[in-house]
Amino acid sequence: MTITAEDIRRDIREKNVTFLRLMFTDIAGTLKNVEVPATDEQLDKILDNKMMFDGSSIEGFVRINESDMYLYPDLDTWIVFPWGAENGKVAGLICDVYNPDGTPFAGDPRGNLKRALHKMEDHGFSSFNLGPEPEFFLFKLDENGVPTLEVNDQGGYFDLAPTDLADNTRREIVNVLTQLGFEVEASHHEVAVGQHEIDFKYANVLEACDNIQIFKLVVKTIAREHGLHATFMAKPKYGINGSGMHCNMSLFDKEGNNVFYDPKGEMELSTTAYEFLAGLLKHAYSFTAIMNPTVNSYKRLVPGYEAPVYVAWAGRNRSPLIRVPASRGKSTRLELRSVDPTANPYLALAVLLDSGLDGITNKLTPPAPVESNIYVMTDEERKAVGITDLPSTLRNAVKALQEDEVVKDAMGEHIYTNFVEAKRIEWASYAQYVSQWEIDNYLELY
Ligand code: ADP
Ligand code: GLU
Ligand code: MG
Ligand code: MG
Repeated sequence: MTITAEDIRRDIREKNVTFLRLMFTDIAGTLKNVEVPATDEQLDKILDNKMMFDGSSIEGFVRINESDMYLYPDLDTWIVFPWGAENGKVAGLICDVYNPDGTPFAGDPRGNLKRALHKMEDHGFSSFNLGPEPEFFLFKLDENGVPTLEVNDQGGYFDLAPTDLADNTRREIVNVLTQLGFEVEASHHEVAVGQHEIDFKYANVLEACDNIQIFKLVVKTIAREHGLHATFMAKPKYGINGSGMHCNMSLFDKEGNNVFYDPKGEMELSTTAYEFLAGLLKHAYSFTAIMNPTVNSYKRLVPGYEAPVYVAWAGRNRSPLIRVPASRGKSTRLELRSVDPTANPYLALAVLLDSGLDGITNKLTPPAPVESNIYVMTDEERKAVGITDLPSTLRNAVKALQEDEVVKDAMGEHIYTNFVEAKRIEWASYAQYVSQWEIDNYLELY
């Protein structure tokens, strides 16, 4: 799909658009925007790549003395939000961030993903596809509009109303997504109370990452309209499942064939698929800091809650890090189950692509699949078949990240330096905090 400046001008007129939102994503993965009135003058400036903003106020972007940055809109990302009609509609464009000299800004995660895609093209592939499965919780707001930890349903996996009071909220989210052009494939209550999942059709990775950012915005906005707070944090509540964002990945060639599929290969998978898989497994320990970037992410990666804890792969089995879902042909894909929705999608997918390509470049072979339940194996049994652990804390994960040149290279120097610095500060702040758990367990005992 190619959207032209003329399409945008027509939409603004016909749909009564009064505000334009220029969006981009910072290193932490947060969607940012600057909003301008949808006048002809402003639109000309935007389409001419003349929209400037102060990069020094954005976390991890630039220092104060080099603060002017430019937003170059990607016209294909044009969307008219279906809400806020009283004062006219709000429309938006996702942008790339550029330096004043017209070069792409190295600290822009979306631009960094584009660089990874150029590398992929050099390997002869034309599309890296992503189908994400984001999970989230809906919590009640208190009388002041502040989110609580109180859920508004007692539903479980695939439950229906009346247990699932969030049914209507989820249905409206799906309606809005559909109006925005998403192809929603599934919407259901997840395993935990108050937990939900909405899956949309896979797309090339750049479009899929843009979709994730818009998806989160839509979910949070519609939840608010229903008096609820939607959170994508990885483990909001102790003792129940956390929220993952499984990433289904595949590579297509120029003819649009899925290069992971080979009807004659072992498990009908191609050598390329096995090499890509081996690359992911090789870098899995060190890329965890990117897939699971918060202190809280590691409280999800524990046994017993359908989240992975060990580095292994399998076909049907859902306990390992990577699963190869049963579909073949065009749908042949690798599903990485560690990623949680706090990951910066652009950064995560650039790292996953480069890790997989490293497997292809070096013709790596994966270990044998593990079809038994890894959670119930003993340490010795796991060791015997070469299954290793994922990092257990953000601190260990960040340490490992610093030792992997492929992952560092995939992030680019600027993003890497700022990411590690931010995560060190985050860990130090957390490590010094005295939690309720410590008070409950130690105050009276000692
Ligand atoms: P699960 O069985 O883990 O719940 P789902 O069926 O819910 O998985 O999700 C499958 C996801 O995989 C969807 O987003 C779907 O569009 C995506 N998908 C299907 N084919 C491909 C492919 N070739 N490449 C990447 N993703 C794909
Ligand atoms: N919520 C689980 C997780 O933390 C995943 C459940 C599922 O398989 O969909 O990854
Ligand atoms: Mg799920
Ligand atoms: Mg899944």
